Amino acid sequence: MTAEAFKGVPFDNVLKCVHCGLCLDDCPTYRELGVEQDSPRGRLYLMRGLWEGELDLTPDVAAPLNRCLDCRACETACPSAVPYGELLEKARGVIAENLPQSRQRRFLEAVFFRRVLPSTGWMRLISMGGWIYRLLGLHLIFSQTALARLLPDWAVRGNAMMPRFAGRSFKLGYRKSKNKGKHKVGLFTGCIMDVADLDIHRATVKLLEASGCEVVVPKEQACCGALHVHNGEREIPRTLALRNEEAFKDESLDAVIVNAAGCGAQLREYGHLFSDSPERNDERRHDFGNRIQDILVYLSDLEGYRNLKWQAKKETVLYDAPCHLMHAQKTDTPRTLLAENPAVNLVPLEDADRCCGAAGIYNMVHGDLADDILDRKLDDIEATLALNPDAATLVTGNPGCLFQIRNGVRNRGLPLRVIHPVQLLAELME
Ligand code: SF4
Ligand code: SF4
Repeated sequence: MTAEAFKGVPFDNVLKCVHCGLCLDDCPTYRELGVEQDSPRGRLYLMRGLWEGELDLTPDVAAPLNRCLDCRACETACPSAVPYGELLEKARGVIAENLPQSRQRRFLEAVFFRRVLPSTGWMRLISMGGWIYRLLGLHLIFSQTALARLLPDWAVRGNAMMPRFAGRSFKLGYRKSKNKGKHKVGLFTGCIMDVADLDIHRATVKLLEASGCEVVVPKEQACCGALHVHNGEREIPRTLALRNEEAFKDESLDAVIVNAAGCGAQLREYGHLFSDSPERNDERRHDFGNRIQDILVYLSDLEGYRNLKWQAKKETVLYDAPCHLMHAQKTDTPRTLLAENPAVNLVPLEDADRCCGAAGIYNMVHGDLADDILDRKLDDIEATLALNPDAATLVTGNPGCLFQIRNGVRNRGLPLRVIHPVQLLAELME
């Protein structure tokens, strides 16, 4: 029955795994649970069994695949170049379509994935609600009083990690670049980040313009679809992919700039979504993917950025590398760029490339395991702070990681602000 479910899904790459186990130590869930089926090798074995029809698709088989963070640290560790993330996302698609789903999952799909995330109108409405909620101090009431006990666990976590909603959309409010620069770039603003923590987009525009770029922000752009794909939803992200390709079709754009690592990885990999229909997986998918650039990676190549002047006083900073930059986009350039900045004293953070447990909505649906993974990260941060007491800032280039680590740092009472690297760089500019 399962081989039939996989029909049409290109899955041969699962055969690249030679079961060497070199990825095991890099897997956060294997480190926490110590169980083979919660390791990359174990999960690949399960996926292969399903694909070949040797295993039946049961909740017990699906559970370890659903417990994976999709952090892709195993891809970096793997000498056989197994494209683990692509295989997992395809397998989750088959699971979502062929195994009866929980009520929570059906609600998520019907409301959050299908209606809310793809719609700027809905996102604005939620942002306004979130803005008023925070203004009235309800986030404190639901986190610091007995009322928190009335909420389900995922709502308590959502409340604690709530972004700073602005009550408006960045892309709809953006007028025109101050520059008619040498370079012209498009800015991708995302779904949640289009209506929350807008300082990140403002700092991105400030850095790009100071480096000589003209920045355009198409209003028709949409959510990247990463949350959908990580949760096994495939048809909606295809629609979102086509919308984004259309929104950024202006050929005079040198690049499409992204300041969220998870979105960047998804936008670069739109081709994977269409791999089961070759007639739709054409050059446009690959051209679009090639134009996607992380903001710090793009700046690192710009002469205008290299000529910027920085404040004389150095700031001691910790950098946490988002998994979707290190392992999905496979770049460490953001760390190098920060280390080279004359106003930054970058101190090494132990295991900076290990997952913080955020992983999209993982921290809400697998809360206890996400907490254990976050605890390791916070232990590393505390140890680094003990050696570098003048460090007051941690930067990380993915909003999900930013909210997760910020919440953990606050709960432990650590004297550290957690911000996006572009916010730091925009502050340090002279
Ligand atoms: S993606 Fe991350 S959590 Fe999943 S198997 Fe690979 S290393 Fe482990
Ligand atoms: S995924 Fe790669 S590193 Fe892990 S067991 Fe398979 S071949 Fe080895």
